[in-house]
Amino acid sequence: MALSAAPSESFDLIVVGGGHAGCEAALAAARLGIDTALFSLNIDRIAWQPCNPAVGGPAKSQLVHEVDALGGVIGRLADATALQKRVLNASRGPAVWALRAQTDKRAYARQMLQLLQHTPHLHLREAMVTGLEVADDRVIGVSTYFGSVYAAGAVVLTTGTFLGGTIWVGNRSMPAGRAGEARAEGLTEALRALGFRTDRLKTGTPARVDRRSVRLDQLEEQPSDAADRFFSFDPAAWVSGEQMACHITRTTAATHQLIRDNLHLTPIYGGFIDSKGPRYCPSIEDKIVRFEGKDSHQIFLEPEGRDTPELYIQGFSTGLPERLQLELLRTLPGLEQCVMLRPAYAVDYDILPATQLLPSLMTKRVEGLFSAGQLNGTTGYEEAAAQGLVAGLNAARLLRGQSPVHFPREGSYIGTLIDDLVTKDLKEPYRVLTSRSEYRLVLRGDNADRRLTPLGHALGLVDGRRWQIFQAKQAAIEAEQRRLDTVRLKASDPAAAAIEAETGAPIRGSITLADLLRRSGVHATDLVRHGLCDPQLPADVRDSAEIDVKYSGYLARQQQEIERVRKQDHRPIPDGIDYAAIATLSKEARERLAVVRPLNLGQASRTPGVSPADANALLLWLELNRRREAAQRAPVP
Ligand code: FAD
Repeated sequence: MALSAAPSESFDLIVVGGGHAGCEAALAAARLGIDTALFSLNIDRIAWQPCNPAVGGPAKSQLVHEVDALGGVIGRLADATALQKRVLNASRGPAVWALRAQTDKRAYARQMLQLLQHTPHLHLREAMVTGLEVADDRVIGVSTYFGSVYAAGAVVLTTGTFLGGTIWVGNRSMPAGRAGEARAEGLTEALRALGFRTDRLKTGTPARVDRRSVRLDQLEEQPSDAADRFFSFDPAAWVSGEQMACHITRTTAATHQLIRDNLHLTPIYGGFIDSKGPRYCPSIEDKIVRFEGKDSHQIFLEPEGRDTPELYIQGFSTGLPERLQLELLRTLPGLEQCVMLRPAYAVDYDILPATQLLPSLMTKRVEGLFSAGQLNGTTGYEEAAAQGLVAGLNAARLLRGQSPVHFPREGSYIGTLIDDLVTKDLKEPYRVLTSRSEYRLVLRGDNADRRLTPLGHALGLVDGRRWQIFQAKQAAIEAEQRRLDTVRLKASDPAAAAIEAETGAPIRGSITLADLLRRSGVHATDLVRHGLCDPQLPADVRDSAEIDVKYSGYLARQQQEIERVRKQDHRPIPDGIDYAAIATLSKEARERLAVVRPLNLGQASRTPGVSPADANALLLWLELNRRREAAQRAPVP
């Protein structure tokens, strides 16, 4: 197997891209002892947060907890650099509770760079990777814009929004991966030459304004309410820096009028680009067009760091020309005199549709070539980090001759995300949502360590210190659950009278603390208040014990459903099936399955274009095929 030129250097693994996917991929592989090089266009922009420097939120926070539970770093860096933390959906059930942190974007990038620079087996290189060296359908290295070749046994691509990137402000465009950074040339063509299909998606970011020009004192303040909550399960990462407030303003009639008058000047409504943007992060013009009857939208002003006056105008991304953006910002109360530091812009870029990947995130076409992050069609730092960790882990395992690790969708949001990506054709950037999981009561943030840390430890991603912390926490949760199950509160106890008065529900005779917790409106914090729970018990232990007890019925039912799914959905589909020859499948299902080539029945049934009747037909065919093969193998009497 020959490279096109003598290599400048050789590594086990090359990760292309130092964004949120690339950093986790490189760190995971290096942690496993793989000699890893991380190539990025600009080392000073590693782990940059080009949109809102915020981590977490619904479903995204579950992903961050999961990555942390597997030894990843996004959670600990978000904890270390948080400016404001909030628990979202706190008034709803635990399945949808979500931690969200506004982070200091420069501190975040700086700390990630330091981490990378001090990780053994990890080497940073600044270069634009433009080509892939492939021999016999196996990747053997990469080549760069200035003509160097580097050898590697595996390559992980995590190029974000940079492949063929074009940024747009109004109808003016410029080739760029994001504002101020060159686009990446060559790789899209290299992928296409290898037979891969590429597509195009778009995303956008709002303007930044100078906080000193905003009348924040006239706006509603949104303080931090969860400074003592953390993404990481490692207490050593629990840093509570001084918190900053966000502020809230609203669009006005003038905002709406200005947008309606100038819609034709935006890239989408003016028809300059037709790639699809994220539905869950719509531009302000999309909101005004789609929700015509709504006369005002909430807008959040969020700090981008401690040492910068920049405010991120959340909910206000726009495709309007630069010359109209300042006028638009000044229609918002509090921003009448604002100074715009950076205009809003959109970027459209090439993606590698992930139906061309296996659930290990290795491409089906080229062995050893992996892809993760925005390149796979997702949007968001958290989605990128989760895929990066999986790609880095599986690249390392491939290099060691070990089988890939597939994360099932019922075990994690990581699994849900990857299963969705490899089976569904994306029409717009994909972001994770709690509604994407059928098992969201089981897939909570608080129990991500219980679900994944044993696996992370077995795989070598979680070190001994973290493993001991994990075991001690689980023992404490179990002890607390036993206590809740056995300790009874007598009706004659003064605490019982107080709780009766608060909840209006009588306590007769006596009741276990577990049954008391199962009553609506009673929480572990109430037990602490009434002297029925040790106030020194760590909050994470107390909360996990409470959730397990309170929702034990629902959890048991969801667990049964998971067992059922495991049996049926995980039934493997043999490699090399000729779907065209299965006459009982619809034409569309035959075509779609031949492209996706699912590994198991569950993936097949979730492939768009495959109806429940097709899934049944496939199940029947698999069973008949199994019997036919068994009969052929049986010795002739
Ligand atoms: P990135 O963070 O983009 O990192 C890619 C890395 O690859 C960079 O370090 C780059 O230097 C490097 N690279 C690229 N090509 C090469 C090459 N050929 N050779 C070497 N290095 C290369 N997320 C949201 O959740 N919601 C949003 O609304 C949102 N809006 C966004 C708006 C804009 C304008 C942009 C730019 C991003 C937005 N994001 C948004 C997306 C968020 O930034 C990404 O999802 C996240 O950063 C993706 O991480 P990644 O690791 O896949 O890629």
